[in-house]
Amino acid sequence: MSLSTTLETPQTGKYEQPTGLFINGEFTKGVEGKTFESINPSTEKPIVAVHEATEKDVDVAVSAARKAFEGEWRKVTPEQRSKYLFKLADLFDQNLDLLAAIESLDNGKAFAMAKVDIGMCAGCLRYYGGWADKITGKVIDTNSETFSYTRQEPIGVCGQIIPWNFPLLMWAWKIGPVVATGNTVVLKSAEQTPLGALYAAKLVKEAGFPPGVINVISGFGKTAGAAISAHMDIDKVAFTGSTVVGRQIMKAAAGSNLKKVTLELGGKSPNIVFDDANIEDAISWVNFGIYFNHGQCCCAGSRIYVQEGIYDKFIEAFKKRAAANKVGDPFASDTFQGPQVSQLQFDRIMGYIDAGRKEGAKVEIGGERQGDKGYFIQPTIFSNVSEDMKIMQEEIFGPVCSIAKFKTEEDAIRVGNSTTYGLAAAVHTQNLNTAIRVSNELRAGTVWVNAYNLLHHQLPFGGYKESGIGRELGEAALANYTQTKTVSIRLGGALFG
Ligand code: ADP
Repeated sequence: MSLSTTLETPQTGKYEQPTGLFINGEFTKGVEGKTFESINPSTEKPIVAVHEATEKDVDVAVSAARKAFEGEWRKVTPEQRSKYLFKLADLFDQNLDLLAAIESLDNGKAFAMAKVDIGMCAGCLRYYGGWADKITGKVIDTNSETFSYTRQEPIGVCGQIIPWNFPLLMWAWKIGPVVATGNTVVLKSAEQTPLGALYAAKLVKEAGFPPGVINVISGFGKTAGAAISAHMDIDKVAFTGSTVVGRQIMKAAAGSNLKKVTLELGGKSPNIVFDDANIEDAISWVNFGIYFNHGQCCCAGSRIYVQEGIYDKFIEAFKKRAAANKVGDPFASDTFQGPQVSQLQFDRIMGYIDAGRKEGAKVEIGGERQGDKGYFIQPTIFSNVSEDMKIMQEEIFGPVCSIAKFKTEEDAIRVGNSTTYGLAAAVHTQNLNTAIRVSNELRAGTVWVNAYNLLHHQLPFGGYKESGIGRELGEAALANYTQTKTVSIRLGGALFG
């Protein structure tokens, strides 16, 4: 099989899609010659086959990354690292429509939303380009006979494993800080959505990065992903995905070379609406909080708690709003919700809808497949739920939410914190004191007030509790990819004293 194929998208026409593994600055075939198909979730038909990385290819990619880390890349100045990232960000901007169209084709997300994602990718890469030459240590004064300072040094060869829900945005969130801080990387895309990552790899080459600094491979979690997390020559692994897999990665890291681990995992985020909220605004944000990206967001606001005074009014208006979300062809200009990414995800979500019904929750709207082709699911709302139900505790990762009533602020905080997750939360109120009190009490890495999903590359993002370890984005992400070295120089004086 060749290393690229001509594909076509409805928005951008024909283009050349790389299909090889991007290792040491070149697209190559896998050592074992395997390939796998990427499926279009709107049609359930294969788009194209890509080369598959196995454990052996991970070894080859790690060797390339190690050689780059210990060779040429070490000598590259921080200013030059900035320039590479700025150039890559510009290339994302210049190819915005095409990259967005690839996302819509491969992942099924609405084209209009995908364009926002790509703009955010460029912003993120540029932001970390800005950090590359601002990473500094400290001089620490202990006494007059010692001169001590710290350096923030790169960790080395980093493995990065990303999910399929924001294929390119997760690529940019990972690549920006790892490169800015002077590491080299082997990144594995999700097997459901390999295409955008490979096109981005082509842009890496165009931006002029030295060979081996950024390696991008396509492959499966159980083979290539597991090989990354257990590799003896990978110094750090960063993962975004399910909590189940996050645990496996941590175990593999512990059982191999104790590589450093950061994890951005699942969520079951509460979206709390008080009686005094601006109800129209709150409905818009609650709707966006759960149905954006077809519910395939780790921070999706899937548990909606509404104070008893406005509950009846809220649920009626919210049902109308959710039912009006346009579900369909990702390339249609008015589409808000495309298909779920795969048959597996579709089946999992329908399984949760079944479980909700069986446990006695009431389907207010939706609950069914939409159409007979593609993995489309109707926006679904459950009411009559209790905290111990499966649909209230487990991450569904689809267009399905539950709504429940609460009485007091204390109740809202208690139920808001009643899962093992702690990624995000939101509070809707016009009372500033309520907003601040409740935000402070919620055990979540991000709290939005009178809004939802306000993610930005300048703002740290990550989980409390079982939602993760470490923070992505913002200055905080630099800590994931640097380690502190202390240097102490004796200036004189006795051995002790
Ligand atoms: P989902 O269940 O939503 O598909 P996963 O957490 O399984 O999410 O997948 C996210 C990423 O983790 C993908 O790139 C996938 O290939 C990878 N992955 C899955 N299983 C493993 C594993 N055992 N070890 C390492 N990576 C894995």
